[in-house]
Amino acid sequence: MDALVTGTLLITMDPTVRGATGDLGIVGDGAVGWTDGEIAYVGPADGVNARDADRTVDGDGCLTLPGLVNAHVHGRHTVLRGAAQDVPEHEWLSRSLGPVSAHATPEDGVVGAELTAIEALASGTTTLGEYARDVGELVDQVYRPLGLRVVATERLTEVPDDRSELSPDEPYPLDREAGETALARADDLFASAEEDPLVEPAYGPQALDMVSPELLESITARARAADRTVHMHVARGDREHRQVAARYGDGETTVSVLDRMELLGDHLLAAHLHGATPDERALLADAGVRMVGCPSSVAAIDGAVPPIAEYRERGGTVGLGTDQAPGPGGHDAFREARTAAMLAKADRGDPTAVDAADVLALATLGGARALGIADRVGTRLTREARGCRGL
Ligand SMILES: [Zn+2]
Repeated sequence: MDALVTGTLLITMDPTVRGATGDLGIVGDGAVGWTDGEIAYVGPADGVNARDADRTVDGDGCLTLPGLVNAHVHGRHTVLRGAAQDVPEHEWLSRSLGPVSAHATPEDGVVGAELTAIEALASGTTTLGEYARDVGELVDQVYRPLGLRVVATERLTEVPDDRSELSPDEPYPLDREAGETALARADDLFASAEEDPLVEPAYGPQALDMVSPELLESITARARAADRTVHMHVARGDREHRQVAARYGDGETTVSVLDRMELLGDHLLAAHLHGATPDERALLADAGVRMVGCPSSVAAIDGAVPPIAEYRERGGTVGLGTDQAPGPGGHDAFREARTAAMLAKADRGDPTAVDAADVLALATLGGARALGIADRVGTRLTREARGCRGL
């Protein structure tokens, strides 16, 4: 094999690994080897001959674990770190982030993605659920050259960037042509990513209030036909709630509209969900909708706690994401995992809620399942032994 990490404390997230203990599949004196970027050995150090490896790495004092999965990220905004904070939720997008990001160039967006990638790799993250306009540019210029795995979500929206003059209850104007142009960009991305094992494209209708029903139906039909993911912000909070009520009628919510349009199902990855009711979340979990919770972002922008613990209890699939840097500040997946646990404990008044093993599962396997790539990612090690990090 090309290389072997020996003598390391190994967390495989796979209890079936030989010599492993507990649900996390921990091996006290473990080894991991790889050949051509693929895992060739995982297990106890005494089960492999170091002389079989071209190169050995002494893992003593290191914890080696699967690459973390950051399932929801807007990398283009990272160059605006800290620039949109401490404002009411319904003003954040249109009157805080929007006016600032209007001054950012596409090149700034690429620099933002580079910063995101650096933070990801420095925090042991090997997979990003990137969500951006023209995401193919970020894949080509940043993520592919760095060898990061990316679920590349093309943002699809029909609303203008500048909505600062609209009141919260005035429905955004929709531009159908912009939606079709964005959908064509997404289709190009699907075609170009076909041969790349590290790039998985996804459709990203921004939110129910930002796309027409026609566009959403056509996206969903494409996703269902080709077994692709629709990655969408769902029930984020007051701003979205008021827009949906203004467009679809009093009493309507994102979940009620999606349900009536028969757009719920396991093709859907829903970011956030704290604006949904418990009954709606039960409906979503039963329908197989996957969830990504972004604790730092939701705390900073909405003053809320994502329903991570509840959604897991309902049998739903949950991953973690850092979302965006202008509000909460960054993309360190270990910090996000810690924040997820802390907020869940405080929210529930229960220090046993979302324990260390739970949060590690959320940050690895949970993220991989949420992004629909758990057949390749989330247990043992992904791609190569990058995650060696002293604790
Ligand atoms: Zn987001």
